[in-house]
Amino acid sequence: MNGYYLSVGSNLPIAGRSPAAVLQAALEEFSRTGAKEQGSVEIVAVSEIYRTPAWPAGHGPDYANQAWHVRSDHSPQRLLDRLHALEARFERRRAQRWRARTLDLDIVLATDSQGDSLILPDRETVSRWMALPRAVQMRRSPDRLILPHPRLHERGFVLVPLLEIAPGIVHPILGRTVIELAAALPPEETRAIRPWQA
Ligand code: ATP
Ligand code: CA
Ligand code: CA
Repeated sequence: MNGYYLSVGSNLPIAGRSPAAVLQAALEEFSRTGAKEQGSVEIVAVSEIYRTPAWPAGHGPDYANQAWHVRSDHSPQRLLDRLHALEARFERRRAQRWRARTLDLDIVLATDSQGDSLILPDRETVSRWMALPRAVQMRRSPDRLILPHPRLHERGFVLVPLLEIAPGIVHPILGRTVIELAAALPPEETRAIRPWQA
């Protein structure tokens, strides 16, 4: 069994459902279809839903963001395929990168059955994606699964929800825990993040 930490987000309503309601519905659908398909998917823990300003600034309404911890015997690629199928069921159109979307499901960290963090496809490739200048990030997206997610360590909207459910997980390239990564963020990265309901 592998452990998967997912960062989920939505900033467009569907059929009158708020972004937070979209995340709830996606979680229900994910656990329901998990039971029907070959291989198991078990939801281990789910964070609160947070409200975070769209990024880059001005790109649409606030996001609802949440972290999920899932246990599964799916390979990382198989799980990502399922997540893409789930995005499609929630009307996600992969039009333009970093634009408003109904549902975005990223795998940010994965661990093997021993609890060790996975690096995919290899340390050098992940490090290269992590080092890309922001202007290049806007234009290029990886055509294969990269783990840990190359932007995990610099995003408040990912780390704040993750803190609740995985504070002690170690980033296998940076050698720091989620707590340490969150503490190292510039204050403006987390200042505007608040509980969805507040
Ligand atoms: P970002 O990756 O910066 O958060 P995004 O989520 O908006 O941007 P997408 O258009 O959803 O980007 O995904 C682009 C591609 O990234 C997808 O086709 C997917 O195959 C690939 N990808 C690589 N690594 C991951 C990962 N760890 N989790 C999710 N998708 C990934
Ligand atoms: Ca994303
Ligand atoms: Ca994505």
